[in-house]
Amino acid sequence: MEVLISSKFTIVDDNYETRTIKLGNDDPNEVEEVGESATRECKSYVFHSAENKLIRFIDTPGMGDTNGLEQDVKNFENILWYISYHKYLNGICILLKPNNSRLNVIFKFCIQELLSHLHKDAKDNIVFCFTNARETNYRPGNTKLLLEKQLEDLKRQSRTDVEINVVKNTMYCFDNESFRFLAAIKNDIQFTESEERNFAESWKKSVDESLRLIEYLLKRRPHKIKDTLSLNNARNIVIFLSKPLAEIGQLIQMNINLIRQKQGEIDSSSKTIKELQDRLYILQIDLEPVKLGYPRTVCTNNSCVELKQIERTNSIKTDYVKHCCPHCFLRFSKSNVVNNKTLRFCSAIKFSGNCKVCGCHWKKHMHITYENKHVSHIIKDENVESQISENMSDQEIKKAIVKEYQKMRDQLQKEQQKINEISLKFAQFLRQNAIAAFNDAYADYLDHFIEEEKVKKSADPSYDESILEGLKTTRDSYMKQVEVIKKAIENNDPSRPPIKPEQIAKLEQQLYNLPLNGLTLKKLKYEAERSQTDIFRYTENHYMP
Ligand SMILES: [Zn+2]
Ligand SMILES: [Zn+2]
Ligand SMILES: [Zn+2]
Repeated sequence: MEVLISSKFTIVDDNYETRTIKLGNDDPNEVEEVGESATRECKSYVFHSAENKLIRFIDTPGMGDTNGLEQDVKNFENILWYISYHKYLNGICILLKPNNSRLNVIFKFCIQELLSHLHKDAKDNIVFCFTNARETNYRPGNTKLLLEKQLEDLKRQSRTDVEINVVKNTMYCFDNESFRFLAAIKNDIQFTESEERNFAESWKKSVDESLRLIEYLLKRRPHKIKDTLSLNNARNIVIFLSKPLAEIGQLIQMNINLIRQKQGEIDSSSKTIKELQDRLYILQIDLEPVKLGYPRTVCTNNSCVELKQIERTNSIKTDYVKHCCPHCFLRFSKSNVVNNKTLRFCSAIKFSGNCKVCGCHWKKHMHITYENKHVSHIIKDENVESQISENMSDQEIKKAIVKEYQKMRDQLQKEQQKINEISLKFAQFLRQNAIAAFNDAYADYLDHFIEEEKVKKSADPSYDESILEGLKTTRDSYMKQVEVIKKAIENNDPSRPPIKPEQIAKLEQQLYNLPLNGLTLKKLKYEAERSQTDIFRYTENHYMP
């Protein structure tokens, strides 16, 4: 028997003996162990049909893989990389079992992941294929209801107008039993007449459904793969920047606070300028990211962190000293790492949701790939130095210096505004282009750093609340504007034209050009992004009749 797609399966013969049937060449891609999802990497099967037309099936790794979520994340990367070799997709087939009572968290995660990776123009190319459909009489079974509910939930959560239809045109039912039957006959396995009738029926149904599927897909407008790829590239920029942007947000508030303290000190001092001369400088903090040997899951609960004073300043930093999973295998490279459900799958987290090591809830944990060293610098403002040489009274000089420092505070404030402005454009971009919206990682990280400040406040009676308040203001004004954006998108407000993927790289560059924080931000993003890229193989089989 000639087959394009090699396969291997077991069948129980009429003597109840288990026989292994092998078709085609051995394929290292198909894993044989029972219960393992079969395909590990993408592979194409090309059928040369009439009029020189090619039909290319791309077989992808399964989602909800038995190898866990980190494998799923890797699989998505593999699929995106693989399809980048092609220009169009006519159809995106999501294969489901018709009677899946185990549609659970993982199913939800997979559908959401899939739809958040696809450009929304791909929605009309999505179809659902139900396999093993004989047991449900070639109907979608109760999976259909669950699927509809999932899509409904997703639509509500992401507040989009993108609808994926679950109707006859987008649902197809198959069974591969008849194929197995043919292969078995060729291997001299006997079947009864009624079994043969069943298989014949199954064959006919599956062939009819295949034709209906191909006819439907041919009528679809092909999805431009470029759109999905540029969406994903832009999405990666946004995701890798989310934590660094929030880190800079916290840093800006700390630095504003240091300037404010110095202004107060000079303003209220009864000393002469000469006596103050050595104390007129200000300290500013900078972040230096340090790569970790391995990704690490740490606990952020206040009972599990240590607060340390940053050298030469009275500012405090948070050290995550509880390394609950010091060598974490979870792959987060492309997703948000606080408040992320994927953390539940870290080996440190028990089934109950609490940590084996520290006992805290998984939500208190965070997955990190780098740490920040806080370094303090003395800033000597030239304008301040020149004020001193002017022929003015000490009081006047003090006033002039305070004013000079105010400029620096305003500059920091201005950079924070710019960061919020650009983050907002990122949020708008993701909402307008993907089928399912993403978590807002920037907002999540701002929340995280607000919590950090609250812990500092409760531990330190002399804590200066202005840092916490400043960070809250940053978050609140961002969230308010996000709401405005959401409404504008819902109402198709023409004053908010869609942001194109090409714009994202330009906005990223604008961030790096910020005079005070641009360079640090660039270093943080580089560190956040650095992760091993997997090398995949491109394989394709051709079949010519
Ligand atoms: Zn882990
Ligand atoms: Zn823990
Ligand atoms: Zn803990």
